[in-house]
Amino acid sequence: MKPTVISSSDLIESVAAALQYISYYHPTDYIEHLARAYAHEQSPAAKDAMAQILTNSKMSAMGHRPICQDTGIVNVFLKIGMDVQWQGFDAGLEAAINEGVRRGYNHPDNTLRASVVADPQFARKNTRDNTPAVVFTQMVPGNTVEVTVAAKGGGSENKSKLVMLNPSDSVVDWVLKTVPTMGAGWCPPGMLGIGIGGTAEKAALMAKEALMEDLDMYQLQLKSAKGQALTPVEELRLEIHDKVNALGIGAQGLGGLTTVLDVKIHMHPTHAASKPVAMIPNCAATRHAHFVLDGSGPVYLDPPSLDLWPDVAWVPNTTQSKRVDMNALTRQEVASWRAGQTLLLNGKLLTGRDAAHKRIQDMLAKGEPLPVDFANRGIYYVGPVDPVGDEAVGPAGPTTSTRMDKFTDMMLAETGLGCMIGKAERGPEAIDAIKRHGSAYLMAVGGAAYLVSKAIKGARVLAFEDLGMEAIYEFDVQDMPVTVAVDSTGDSAHITGPATWQKRIASGEFKNIAVTAA
Ligand code: SF4
Repeated sequence: MKPTVISSSDLIESVAAALQYISYYHPTDYIEHLARAYAHEQSPAAKDAMAQILTNSKMSAMGHRPICQDTGIVNVFLKIGMDVQWQGFDAGLEAAINEGVRRGYNHPDNTLRASVVADPQFARKNTRDNTPAVVFTQMVPGNTVEVTVAAKGGGSENKSKLVMLNPSDSVVDWVLKTVPTMGAGWCPPGMLGIGIGGTAEKAALMAKEALMEDLDMYQLQLKSAKGQALTPVEELRLEIHDKVNALGIGAQGLGGLTTVLDVKIHMHPTHAASKPVAMIPNCAATRHAHFVLDGSGPVYLDPPSLDLWPDVAWVPNTTQSKRVDMNALTRQEVASWRAGQTLLLNGKLLTGRDAAHKRIQDMLAKGEPLPVDFANRGIYYVGPVDPVGDEAVGPAGPTTSTRMDKFTDMMLAETGLGCMIGKAERGPEAIDAIKRHGSAYLMAVGGAAYLVSKAIKGARVLAFEDLGMEAIYEFDVQDMPVTVAVDSTGDSAHITGPATWQKRIASGEFKNIAVTAA
């Protein structure tokens, strides 16, 4: 076989272009599966969340701005042909990939959020350009380099699970026991990558690699419905898919028919004494791209046709949702909200997430005055993308609220905060504090960040500017869509929603709907 010369400039340019591409184009197989799930969804709350995700996705594709404010940590998988020759890689292969990441994330027309911190244990200082990527290489026969580039959100990566089962233990039982413990911080509906076998680290790698495949659950369902023979792995995928969806968790954990759009499984031989199993979810911002370098130059992927997106255009609905003036928030207003109710927020909102909360805690402990008055205000847990052009703010979806649970009692008791806005469920500690202080927790849809940012008409930094995207901003919002997730009585939509839908699905009420093969 004739050796191929791969130049570092081609790899750098192709990686940068692919990262830009996946920041605003969902894989079309994800959109096709989500569109089908949206059409079949019977839960109004889940359907509304899916409508926002689909609308957001098309807006991102048209506007070339990120699907989600968390533009991810970069994962790169390389299959390197053994007949490849390298040119210009003086600093090494990973250095070239990191240069591609640097250029991709700092593109002036579509600047992406730098989320990577180094080191992970002590300083946790943002590297500012989202480097380094996590790179895996494999040597294969051939004279090309196959590249898979993914941008993995922290919310879904944080829900990864690993277990060393006994050989006779059931993988299905473990998955069904484990998925409810993951809550909604992984922004369902998404997919599950499962690695079975090998060793502990091999199982985790296989789970991640499985997420790089196209969704084809619909085709598998059709095959099954036609009575065609399935492989054992296909049967297992279908079983896990159907049983996880029967848990009723639903989009954003609000209760509904679809939690997972697909389940992918990779396997590897293992020790006779072992059955390692890893499970990694991918979220509403499933993002990956694949290309092959053959020595003929950089690769630019073709944009998808916008006709592939379904005809769904979410807009604020003032007949279904209550408009709330956040500039005149009262305890009575907050107490009137009920879990599951949808609101449209108007006026000024504060922002803050992990680092800001920690600093507030430290200042209160030292008796220092706070730079911002939180009394009867709403705080939005968000780390937005920097704006470009005339944007007030870049994509600005919610971050996982459970990380703020340990600060909730302090914020409500010591600052007089009125309510909180984030994504996914709250834990018992936060729910208890919300109830005691007569507050409420509202959720915005994770994975609809560009749509949410369009409701933000102004943004200015109020405090902690050195924290970058974690600074305290004041947003001026207009009809920002949220759902009451925990009301002042402690009622949580993330507990009641899935419980209700699990029961309804078990009753057989949706028997002809849950299987989407028509
Ligand atoms: S969709 Fe959710 S989990 Fe995925 S990147 Fe966005 S915020 Fe994170």
